[in-house]
Amino acid sequence: MVKDAIGGIEREAMESQDKLTAELARAKRLLAVLTEEVEKNGDILQRSQQRELALLQADDLAALFKQLLFGLKESYRLDAVTVVLCDPDHDIRHLLLATGAGMDEFPGLIFIDALAGLSPQYVALRHPWLGAYSAPDHQLILPQTETNASIAMIPLQHKGKLLGSINFCSADAERFTPVYAIDFFDHLGVIASFALENAVNRARLRRSGFTDVLTGWNNRRYLQVRLVEELARARRDATMLICLMLDIDYFKRINDTFGHAAGDEVLKEIAQRIESQVRASDVAARYGGEEFVILLPNTDAASGELLAERIRTEIASIPVDIGRQEGVTVTVSIGIAGIAPQRDDLDLKTVGESLIARADVALYRAKSAGRDQIAVDTEG
Ligand code: GH3
Ligand code: MG
Ligand code: MG
Repeated sequence: MVKDAIGGIEREAMESQDKLTAELARAKRLLAVLTEEVEKNGDILQRSQQRELALLQADDLAALFKQLLFGLKESYRLDAVTVVLCDPDHDIRHLLLATGAGMDEFPGLIFIDALAGLSPQYVALRHPWLGAYSAPDHQLILPQTETNASIAMIPLQHKGKLLGSINFCSADAERFTPVYAIDFFDHLGVIASFALENAVNRARLRRSGFTDVLTGWNNRRYLQVRLVEELARARRDATMLICLMLDIDYFKRINDTFGHAAGDEVLKEIAQRIESQVRASDVAARYGGEEFVILLPNTDAASGELLAERIRTEIASIPVDIGRQEGVTVTVSIGIAGIAPQRDDLDLKTVGESLIARADVALYRAKSAGRDQIAVDTEG
């Protein structure tokens, strides 16, 4: 009896040990799966955080759109990314072009006058929409290819108003399906919308702080920004950028003889005469008190000299009306420098500073040689 009882207990003990061992093995397997999941999620989370940080840190609209189009594509290993933006006044597009970028740098960036009719999902797109790619519904926001299978449309919004969407496309039909948790995409959409609004506002702000009150011209800050943009363009197109630095001769005398108001009139008139000679694509700015800088994109040194000479005679040959019987004859001296930025010129700010400095040295030579003349930089 006792033996039987002991045998029973032993058997039970062994059975429960087996059960426990099996249980333990199951728990271990589960833990391994969970650990892997956590690591994977941690990895995804970290990558997402880095990507979102990059969006928020984008310096300007060009950088932001590059992050949206190329950064997200790479991070999330997508087959295609497009960004659709409703921009009826061409406001955002102009602000983007003002960074010096060309639209060809942003394949997949679609500016549109109205969202209506683009895709049926836009009618009620408040949260990300995930599902199968369907050419009739999606080809206007994501051009059809043979591999398009599933799509995620992430709304870009401002104060509850739909501005457009970021569109992810995958060749994997299971990648974006309606059952997929959309929290992650929701979050990304909020961050991207915020980054976009921020970049647009900053671009607008930079523009408004760029005007000289007296002449209505661009000011020095504007010139500094445009100089880098024009250098980038010249580098990309392998063209030359010419810089004219113009300074009014003996301007102090005009102030001293006729007063500051007359001096102001002279400044405005000189600005107008310069403006009448330059092309719309040239960049003219009031650089300092009685100094003006003109950037001539895609121009050679000889043409720059010709233009400088035309400006000089245009100013010297006709006296400026300052409300007195006789106008006052004003002359200017002009320094000229040019540069063809090379592919390996990475620090364009410094390149720009040296271009201005060289034009300034040439200007000084024109002054020393007797004023009312032009001088070309000899270094460049
Ligand atoms: P130089 O031929 O060597 O250039 O002689 P300059 O007298 O033109 O040069 P200088 O730099 O000595 O004088 C520039 C003057 O321009 C001094 C400054 O008071 C005046 N000025 C700067 N901004 C303005 C402005 O907005 N209005 C008026 N009326 N005068 C200004
Ligand atoms: Mg001066
Ligand atoms: Mg002067």
